[in-house]
Amino acid sequence: MKLSRVLIFLPVLVLLAGCQPHGGENCEAPGDNPIRYELTAMDTFMTMTIYNQPGSVAQEHLRQAAGLLQELDALLSVTDAGSEIYRANHSGGETVPLSEDTRRLLEEALALCEETEGALDVTIYPVVRAWGFTTGEYRVPEAAELEALLKKVDFTQVGLTEDGLTLPEGVELDLGAVAKGYAGDRLMDLFRSTGMICSIVELGGNVQALGTKPDGSPWRVAVQAPEGGYAGALEIVDKAVVTSGGYQRYFEQDGEIFCHIINPASGRPVQNSLASVTVVADRGVQADALSTALFVMGREQAEAWWREHPDFEFLLLEKDGTAVITEGLEDCFSLYGDWKNHPLEVIRK
Ligand code: ADP
Ligand code: MG
Repeated sequence: MKLSRVLIFLPVLVLLAGCQPHGGENCEAPGDNPIRYELTAMDTFMTMTIYNQPGSVAQEHLRQAAGLLQELDALLSVTDAGSEIYRANHSGGETVPLSEDTRRLLEEALALCEETEGALDVTIYPVVRAWGFTTGEYRVPEAAELEALLKKVDFTQVGLTEDGLTLPEGVELDLGAVAKGYAGDRLMDLFRSTGMICSIVELGGNVQALGTKPDGSPWRVAVQAPEGGYAGALEIVDKAVVTSGGYQRYFEQDGEIFCHIINPASGRPVQNSLASVTVVADRGVQADALSTALFVMGREQAEAWWREHPDFEFLLLEKDGTAVITEGLEDCFSLYGDWKNHPLEVIRK
């Protein structure tokens, strides 16, 4: 048996140079004065950059934002014994009271589980654990073990009432597929409430931008190529860009690759033609949920789903080197470097 090292790449990176002028809202103060804050939360490296604010004001906003991220982490962590999610997972079927944030995120996440017909399923945790993704002690579970665990995977079993959250024995929540997206939305709300109009955050590869760059041009967000380096760049204004990829966290055994995104229908890591899915949407939680769900669905089903739910756009990188975009990205996506020679297909309605 061969067990290889796990590789973790951040899928996207903000490129700060080389944007085309764009008629967006401009920050008014002279000079951009970017102020950047770095932290680790939700098990990942995060950066926040805000522009055109006096230093002390910017620092205060960033401190508040960092506090919010730490708070969300403490509520939503699946491993931290003090978190609301941990308490619910270990409640033995008792109802656990919820904070406003956990409740809002759960409501949004459960709606997306429903809409994606369970391609996203926030109760997938027992299966994620069985494959070793929670500890790094990777293994391939037997079919019978997976079958037994899948009996506990069912987002419709999550009870959310005014009193709080109730999980039947054995059902466990994991908000790993949506928590960073929700955090991005909360940061944008916080920044907007201060009157800020230019900021960008990277939360472990999730990018979310408020407004335009200070010069009025769109932000450029680079999309990671599965083999390393970059496959392309997206120009965005006021959007979230989130990538889920099979190359981000995986292990290899006997020549087979097993990634950290699980198909809830089979209990097995996703294996299809896709190397990654990048979703561009107004809201971070939607982009985060859909990047995971469309990756589970695979290309054909993802296309069909987008035609029925046209309030977002996506980019697929296929394992064979083809890039595929929905038509709304035609004017804001370009291939990058070596990928300029790759085929680019456009999906139309
Ligand atoms: P990441 O947050 O690692 O960038 P994703 O947003 O795609 O990537 O979330 C993947 C995480 O979500 C996994 O590590 C696991 O905890 C959880 N997960 C895996 N498969 C699913 C699924 N089908 N539905 C919901 N959550 C999932
Ligand atoms: Mg996700």
